[in-house]
Amino acid sequence: MNTKLNLQERLTKWWLKSNGRKFIETKQFNLPGNKTVKAYLFEKLNDDTLGQLTPFGTIILNKKTTEFQTNALNYVLLHELGHKKLNILISIPMIIGVLSTLFTLVITISGLIAFSIGFIITRNRALPLMITSTIISVPIIAGAYIVLQYTLEGYADYQAIKAMKPKKFLKARAQIKERNKNNKYPKWYIYLMKATYPNAKWTIKIYEHFNKKTINSTTNK
Ligand SMILES: [Zn+2]
Repeated sequence: MNTKLNLQERLTKWWLKSNGRKFIETKQFNLPGNKTVKAYLFEKLNDDTLGQLTPFGTIILNKKTTEFQTNALNYVLLHELGHKKLNILISIPMIIGVLSTLFTLVITISGLIAFSIGFIITRNRALPLMITSTIISVPIIAGAYIVLQYTLEGYADYQAIKAMKPKKFLKARAQIKERNKNNKYPKWYIYLMKATYPNAKWTIKIYEHFNKKTINSTTNK
């Protein structure tokens, strides 16, 4: 157990370092429902990442995020914990999706290289055909990536709503949106974010749909 913990900690610190982030300290945070969560605080200039679940199952948190209002801070932590809750039924199709996307990408790129060489050497006409198929496959790969990300982020938000309830969740999302206004993100990044993070109200709608009974029983009390 102890060695596992040490390994996790070492890998997390390595993860931070490899991303150019400076590890500060580990800190316990209290969450709604008497839960606590441990996070690895980091610092990096011009890094506006709020937090992240590492591949090693630990949570890293930007020092700037700890200055948020409790509500927004809780949301970030619950969202990252939500990524961790992803169950096997969702994970498996996700992994297959990622792998097949990567596989397609490798095939496409190596095909392009091979046909280019063929074209140079033998003037093989297959190159225009290959380019056409690439033009068709790139949007499909990009689309698959967006759908995948959208589902993952939506799932994490869903878990956060479950833990903190819709009202506080909406407040937290609004607070973070307000804060993001001051950041100078490039235009493409903002569009990518919009494409990969589900709208807060939609996720709440899904939550309400699946939790009709619990919502009614708590509001009747
Ligand atoms: Zn996320």
